[in-house]
Amino acid sequence: MTEVLLGKSLLELTDWVQEKGQPSYRGKQLYQWLYQKGARSLLDITVFPKQWREDNQEQDIGRSHVDYFNTAHDGTRKYLLKLKDGLIIETVGIPSSKRLTVCVSSQVGCIMNCDFCATGKEGFTRNLKAHEIIDQILTVQEDFKQRVSNVVFMGMGEPLLNLPEVIKAVKSINKDIGIGARFITISTVGLPKKILELAQYQLQITFAVSLHASNQQLREKLIPSANHYPLKQLLADCREYVNITRRRITFEYILLSGVNDLPEHAQELAQQLKGFQTHVNLIPYNPISEVDYQRPTPERIKNFVELLEKNKIAVSVRYSRGLEADAACGQLRSKKKLIDRL
Ligand code: SAH
Repeated sequence: MTEVLLGKSLLELTDWVQEKGQPSYRGKQLYQWLYQKGARSLLDITVFPKQWREDNQEQDIGRSHVDYFNTAHDGTRKYLLKLKDGLIIETVGIPSSKRLTVCVSSQVGCIMNCDFCATGKEGFTRNLKAHEIIDQILTVQEDFKQRVSNVVFMGMGEPLLNLPEVIKAVKSINKDIGIGARFITISTVGLPKKILELAQYQLQITFAVSLHASNQQLREKLIPSANHYPLKQLLADCREYVNITRRRITFEYILLSGVNDLPEHAQELAQQLKGFQTHVNLIPYNPISEVDYQRPTPERIKNFVELLEKNKIAVSVRYSRGLEADAACGQLRSKKKLIDRL
């Protein structure tokens, strides 16, 4: 891939403009236009000399193009972004009273193939570069004409399988775009050694682990990779993460009716999480067409919540937003393919 500007630090941009024959103060201008004003091309940067902009207009800044979007009644907007090589990724902008959250992808596709997840059904193509992650936030910010307040790595892909680029993106989102690390969430299904590798970076981010099951047997049924990573080891690594970073972990638990939402599962989950100062996010299943799980009734969800609360576990139920626009995670991409085929 040719050199792109997005993802570079102020220092690197200053070096770059100097190499291109400009005085060093232009580095700061370029930095502001890239990260704050959302320039898409050097031609946009009107403070630069016209001739220089024209001479360098072919320079790739690193922005994607919105290929398609869809807006739900609640204002949630799902985008398909076209990357330089023509591949398509999904990004979601989720507005709430004062916040604007962006759900970003870290990979094109996903190798994990969790049974209930649409992304895995299409296989894995490649890792995203840091600038392709940063671009997703700038795109949503530009479209909503509002600053993004929160970023969650809950789009396509498994962030811990693309750690160097994800870390680079997180640092830039924090330092260059200006979003507090605490407002950036990395979510993982959990991979051997990777949680501790992440801990070593000592980021002040929010860390979420997709647990989804209260015992090993059940977890293996839902998440193929659980075979190679026993729940016991995963939870031990999570404890070590807390020791190293002194930060709490959020556990995510998808609720699949009759599969993992029985009272005994809630009790077992509470047992497993003993000793963690944690928060559990329950995610009622979003139906995808490839499998026939059911979302539990409100009554079953309420029972599950109450049982966890009885065991002194902080819990919230996170309904996915914008469902009527295009169902669950990863679904927009498959639907668009269908439309294109018509
Ligand atoms: N690979 C990472 C991040 C991507 S998925 C991870 O597994 O955490 C983000 C969250 O959405 C995960 O908790 C995932 O299990 C959940 N998810 C995926 N498909 C879903 C569906 N159909 N319904 C509800 N949640 C889903």
